Amino acid sequence: MATVEQEAPERNGIIQDAGAIPVENPATGEIIATVPDLSPEQVAEMAAKGRAAQPEWEAYGFDGRARVMLRAQKWVMDNAPKIVETICAETGKTFEDAELAEIGYAGAAFGFWAKDGPGYLADERIKSSQVLVKGKKLILRYRPLGLIGVIGPWNYPLTNSFGDCIPALMAGNSVIMKPSEITPLTSLLLAEGLRECGLPENVLQIATGRGATGAALIEHVDMIMFTGSTKTGRKVAEAAAKRLIPASLELGGKDPMIVLADADVERAANFATYYSMQNAGQTCISIERVYVEEPLYDEFVAKVSEKVRELRVGKPEGPGSVEVGAITFPPQMEIIKDHVADAVQKGARVLTGGNQTAGAGRFFEPTVLVDVDHTMKCMTEETFGPTLPIMKVSDADEAVRLANDSVYGLGASVFSRDTERGEAVARRVQAGAANVNDAMINYTVLELPMGGAKSSGLGSRHGAGGIRKYCSQQAIVVTPKLAMKKELFMYPYKSRTSKALAGLFRFLYGRGQRD
Ligand code: NDP
Repeated sequence: MATVEQEAPERNGIIQDAGAIPVENPATGEIIATVPDLSPEQVAEMAAKGRAAQPEWEAYGFDGRARVMLRAQKWVMDNAPKIVETICAETGKTFEDAELAEIGYAGAAFGFWAKDGPGYLADERIKSSQVLVKGKKLILRYRPLGLIGVIGPWNYPLTNSFGDCIPALMAGNSVIMKPSEITPLTSLLLAEGLRECGLPENVLQIATGRGATGAALIEHVDMIMFTGSTKTGRKVAEAAAKRLIPASLELGGKDPMIVLADADVERAANFATYYSMQNAGQTCISIERVYVEEPLYDEFVAKVSEKVRELRVGKPEGPGSVEVGAITFPPQMEIIKDHVADAVQKGARVLTGGNQTAGAGRFFEPTVLVDVDHTMKCMTEETFGPTLPIMKVSDADEAVRLANDSVYGLGASVFSRDTERGEAVARRVQAGAANVNDAMINYTVLELPMGGAKSSGLGSRHGAGGIRKYCSQQAIVVTPKLAMKKELFMYPYKSRTSKALAGLFRFLYGRGQRD
């Protein structure tokens, strides 16, 4: 993000305080706020405060913490217009993209973690086949790690940036969140909301700043939850490894969609259009490339092109005004343009779109590319924009081979009227999630893990693992009070008991046929 840093002192004619970060509305180019660029020393102070606040929060217990989370759920609903306005202003996304994918998610997530979190973290009574512990009480217990760092991207400031604070808090940790320097305002607003809902002081703190602030945060926390690019994810993993703290990484993707010849072509075309263009294509699990079996290819391409051509792009003016909003992060525009130019130069055809729009704000026309192949960046690198390259394949095997020809493995989708065949193909795709006759919807299922394979990440959010990762496990073995004074295998060693033990092991583990 060096470009942004260089631009920071003067943007749109406004001279900025050297220590402050300007927040721009990408749909208008206006600077709408400035936030502090926190130094490593300030992050260290926050960490000390967060640690001091954590024991009291843990002592609230599940019920006490759930009460705060459920109040926050209602707070999000009561303040939805203000939150949507803030998200739209700092991202330039449409009203619908903010309402559905951010407010809808946050409402569900506060309730889900409040109600299901305690079950995921409840003590488990374990049964063991180990004879040496017969009669003892065996417990697996989860306890909060302490201070969690959450670092997030700019594409969904609430859902996949702030959203990870919710299970971390519910587990009884204190949290320091470092939002993207591009979109810090939503996190600040949510933190204010949680304070109103009764979250004790310093249990959640927002560390605004650039990459250096994020790097400083890793030096102080007990666990780091990172969402962002694969490139930064590697740096985060290295820093976490040096400190030997756990890191959960949600990284980039290049999600393939496979359309088999027997698919419902109208449904497939609608899903390809929506899930490639929604949020202007700036979703980690958006459809980034499509493989269509030959018999359906022409009809599919014609339908998708027609649907994409009808989309309105530009400055959102409230509900129903445009389908495709702004490109939030300035350098992303250059990547999108580069991927289209590279494809065209190598022989691809642009069926609709292909250019940045003229005038104020940062927008790219919804674009469909055909005659594409894997020599082109648009098929192999994350574009993160409103572009959809479509490739013809001879059969499902070729589609699977090409889908797996990627360093990424975040999401995937397969369309077929034969759901068994669709599922069989989905199982062959190397991705953390796969939808049959749908796309992206797995993210809304908070009971299912959401995480990447290959270079798309390590660990996952949601489901049991999505809250247990904020805890350490403790194994507890309790021996009843009426136990023998010592065990048989203890000192002094005696030939008779040693032989009896050897016989016991042979009896337990040595019986049965050998292959
Ligand atoms: P970046 O990796 O550029 O940044 C992510 C966050 O890391 C930002 O807050 C950034 O701060 C911070 N950061 C930068 N350098 C460091 C560092 N050395 N140490 C610690 N933190 C640092 O990602 P983007 O913000 O550009 O987000 C887009 C990417 O996120 C895409 O690749 C997308 O696929 C991925 N993503 C993945 C998701 C998933 O669930 N798998 C979900 C959403 C997005 P700053 O912005 O201030 O520089």
